[in-house]
Amino acid sequence: MPTLGIDLGGTSVRAAVVDAKGKLLSSAKVAVTDRKPPGVVETIAQAADEALKRAGVKVDGCGVGAAGQIHKDSGVISVAPNLGWRNVPLADLLQKRLGYGVKVVNDLSAAAWGELHAGAGRGSQDMLVVFVGSGVGSAIIADGRLVQGGGGVAGELGHIKVVPGGRLCGCGEHGCLEAYVGGHNLIAQTKELLASGRSRILESLVADSDPDSITPVTLEKAADAGDAEAKELHERASRFLAIAVANQVTMLNPSRLLLGGGVLTYCPGIRQRVLDGVQMWSSQTSREGLLVADAELGDDSGIIGAALLVA
Ligand SMILES: [Zn+2]
Repeated sequence: MPTLGIDLGGTSVRAAVVDAKGKLLSSAKVAVTDRKPPGVVETIAQAADEALKRAGVKVDGCGVGAAGQIHKDSGVISVAPNLGWRNVPLADLLQKRLGYGVKVVNDLSAAAWGELHAGAGRGSQDMLVVFVGSGVGSAIIADGRLVQGGGGVAGELGHIKVVPGGRLCGCGEHGCLEAYVGGHNLIAQTKELLASGRSRILESLVADSDPDSITPVTLEKAADAGDAEAKELHERASRFLAIAVANQVTMLNPSRLLLGGGVLTYCPGIRQRVLDGVQMWSSQTSREGLLVADAELGDDSGIIGAALLVA
């Protein structure tokens, strides 16, 4: 029987009907205009109804992937920064509205599950997933199961500390990996460098263009062009990420390392540093037989994974 997958973002909700093999049968997208929980529940229900109507089927289960920290048994969203939520019992609220079973998981966990069953993780039982986009997310699959931890927040690679007392992270703590290499923070650091006036090549790269057009790719271009300050910034961020991933490989001994997200896709220099770091800094026995793959489901990985988690 097909199930429903929901991708809950800060600005829109996508719903899709997904078959047991992970194939999308239909999808629908609705903008989030009211971010309060009752408004979002209504928006999800609207997207769900539309997707079900388009597929012409009924379902008895719905999986939701949401950015944030989610309690694994209750489906309570402890913290969802992009919606400004704290302690929202989304699974209960949605179950009452939809009338069938609802499971809520972290968006990266959903994406990892989707890739495992319908994407670049097929055939693997032990996989480390690392996505670097605007933030840094990761998920762990061990013995074919999603590792969620006691409270459901295992695998938060973005919030391991790389500089105790360092840069402020979006989670409210200081010195997290994400505060250095998450896309938003790479952009912030590039803008700081630009404002310092120490980076001539960077200045010439962005001259006459809108400061909002600066992306992590801008930083990589400046570093590649020989800008010493940009190189140092690029090197530091890449190195933190590479050491973190290498240490995770040593800890978990995955058979597959799955990479995804905008920064790893569009900044080949950062991606390469991660691969080099895994070779240099993970223990030799932990990386024997390790396959590196790129995520292949794109924006659909989370929605497919969320649906398959309740199938
Ligand atoms: Zn953090």
